[in-house]
Amino acid sequence: MKKQRVPFAIVAFLALLTMSSPDQAQAYIGPGAGFAFLSSFLALFVAFALALFYLLSWPLRFALKAMLRKGPRTTTKSAVDRVIVIGLDGMDPKLVDKFLAKGKLPNFQKLKEQGAFAPLATSYPSISPAAWSSFMTGVDPSHHNIFDFLTRDPCTYLPTLSSAEIGRAAKTLPLGKYLLPLGKPKTRLLRKSQPFWRILGEKGVFSSILRVPITFPPEEFNGALLSGMCTPDLKGSQGTFSFYTTKTSGRIETGGISHQVTLTPENTIHTELSGPDNSLIKGGGELKIPLAIRLDKERKQVEIKVGRQKLHLGPKTYSPWVKLVFRPGLGMKVHGICRFYVNCLEPDFELYVTPIHIDPENPALPISHPFIYSVYLAKMIGPYGTLGLAEDTWALNERILDEDAFLQQAYDFYQEREKMLFQALETTRKGLCVCVFDTTDRIQHMFFRCLDESHPANQGKEVEKYKQVIEDLYMRMDQLVGRVLERVDERTVLLVMSDHGFTQFRRGVNINTWLYQNGYLTLKDGKTTSGDWFKDVDWEKTKAFSLGLTGVFLNRKGRESQGIVEEGEEVETLKRELIRKLTNLKDEAEHATAIREVVDTAGMLPGPYLDDAPDLLLGYNAGYRNSWECAAGRVTEQAFEDNTKSWSGDHCVDPTLVPGVLFCNRKITTHQPNIKDIAPTVLRLFGVAIPPYMKGQPLLEEQDGRGPAQPEVENKGESLGQKEQAA
Ligand SMILES: [Zn+2]
Repeated sequence: MKKQRVPFAIVAFLALLTMSSPDQAQAYIGPGAGFAFLSSFLALFVAFALALFYLLSWPLRFALKAMLRKGPRTTTKSAVDRVIVIGLDGMDPKLVDKFLAKGKLPNFQKLKEQGAFAPLATSYPSISPAAWSSFMTGVDPSHHNIFDFLTRDPCTYLPTLSSAEIGRAAKTLPLGKYLLPLGKPKTRLLRKSQPFWRILGEKGVFSSILRVPITFPPEEFNGALLSGMCTPDLKGSQGTFSFYTTKTSGRIETGGISHQVTLTPENTIHTELSGPDNSLIKGGGELKIPLAIRLDKERKQVEIKVGRQKLHLGPKTYSPWVKLVFRPGLGMKVHGICRFYVNCLEPDFELYVTPIHIDPENPALPISHPFIYSVYLAKMIGPYGTLGLAEDTWALNERILDEDAFLQQAYDFYQEREKMLFQALETTRKGLCVCVFDTTDRIQHMFFRCLDESHPANQGKEVEKYKQVIEDLYMRMDQLVGRVLERVDERTVLLVMSDHGFTQFRRGVNINTWLYQNGYLTLKDGKTTSGDWFKDVDWEKTKAFSLGLTGVFLNRKGRESQGIVEEGEEVETLKRELIRKLTNLKDEAEHATAIREVVDTAGMLPGPYLDDAPDLLLGYNAGYRNSWECAAGRVTEQAFEDNTKSWSGDHCVDPTLVPGVLFCNRKITTHQPNIKDIAPTVLRLFGVAIPPYMKGQPLLEEQDGRGPAQPEVENKGESLGQKEQAA
């Protein structure tokens, strides 16, 4: 059995790509990442008792609330009864234009004619965690502190998740072989500022918020919220699948754990399903559940026994969600859910198991507010995936799943999301309802190559068969909009938006290699390349390094533990030098410009959270991005390479190249809306004063809202928001 400990942290595609050393993984994921939720018994008991009470009284409390609140609280000022925001992550305006022209999107067409359609300027950088944080707070990343999925720990130079910190309870009580946690595990959201639904809640406007990125751990407010992107799986990672195969030559796994299994003469396999680490017992190791698989080659199906459950599964089909119970000891239970997928029975048996999601009916960590909301939704719509990055892009990258299996999985998650949305629309007749769909982003990432016949990722993969996938995706989103429109009346404002658009990712650039080749990054004696996370970098002689998808950090004295660049003139000179050399960086092999613009973060973003932000942001040209190797802190021989992974489209480029979209059922006041405008727009619609710190502008006319004038919002003459849409 080949096993690779996959860390907490990160976008699966980054961390999982690169973890080779378990110790190293531990080093930056921090203790307890996997099993932080073994809180004190009392806390758990009380939580579940409360949960039960909440669940039983939910309809009653809801009815009570509705009775007490005849119409929105803000009746005198509110221009609307309800605002619905449908977030379609990564929907691209150029593709929308193309499919509109072909007449494929009748409902979007209707919105465009009746109200508005415009490109929506995205955040700098154009990465979902940063962009959705700007959406919900109305400020730029320097004011909300999310610049990427990852940042680096200035002490160790190792990556950490930008958005949340999860640790064990600070104190434990040793009792025999047990380590009893005292108090709650430390779970902290690192996004600053506040989402606009909290401000609405303070004014009595109720919100249902579904799966908006960077909402884990959930914050308290007047409303219901289910956490989205960056919610971990039960292991505490950002998604770790399992793969069981009888093949002797094991494949290299990234993003998952490979188990080589053997078939008994009775055609049975006895193995285990690994769960989180057992932090209740000293040196407890991973919690496991026995897994027995019996192959019936004649009937072309397998019987899977997991725990006390038994299921039958044919090839190329997903099982329903299966409930898993891990038992760390002392009668405690940790609940998860997963799905099984049999790739093939013979000649080699191959079974894929999804990452183990936190069970929404028995959440081991809070994934919703109120705590009971995830339980309530599961009771109403059935079990559903809770992992932030639920669509298993790495399983397709690694060819563990094929395109069809990936698509089916992505659309299954889509169906769950749609049910949640319509459930929330039923229960939120007045107030705000926001639902983000990740389907658009994940499918585009994995199928963008099919829009470009010469894409290097097409080699060895089917292209023709999947050429329609993205058009079909947009058409399905159009149907969704149609069904939502059926529930929209004249007192409802509907916004359909994306956080960024999309472009090809044909070539990867290893900026760390470039920095090494140009004397800004030094390797330890005798080394010409470096392993994961800067393993072989000599920090005492290194001035700059890149981590994440667009950021370059200077190795600043007094900030990084082994920093050498002096604050003041030396920092400024180095920044100017790097900007000059990297702007218009040429990819000689392709006779193309890889980087259009390099931005000095401090010069562009004026907020209070710049101290630990990347010093420079790379504005890649379309077709380029930080290479996979670069994002993982490696130094390789070549600075440029073809991207041959299924993950073939991206948006971590110059943000002016990849605006998102905005549709509205009412006219808007500008042709150049910005993602930061959504928060003030919704606040104004409900007649709630816009906090002066917000950088966006309301997008709807006063008279259109039929509401009274609002106090003038502080002007937002910042360079970022005013960047023209170039695409
Ligand atoms: Zn994306």
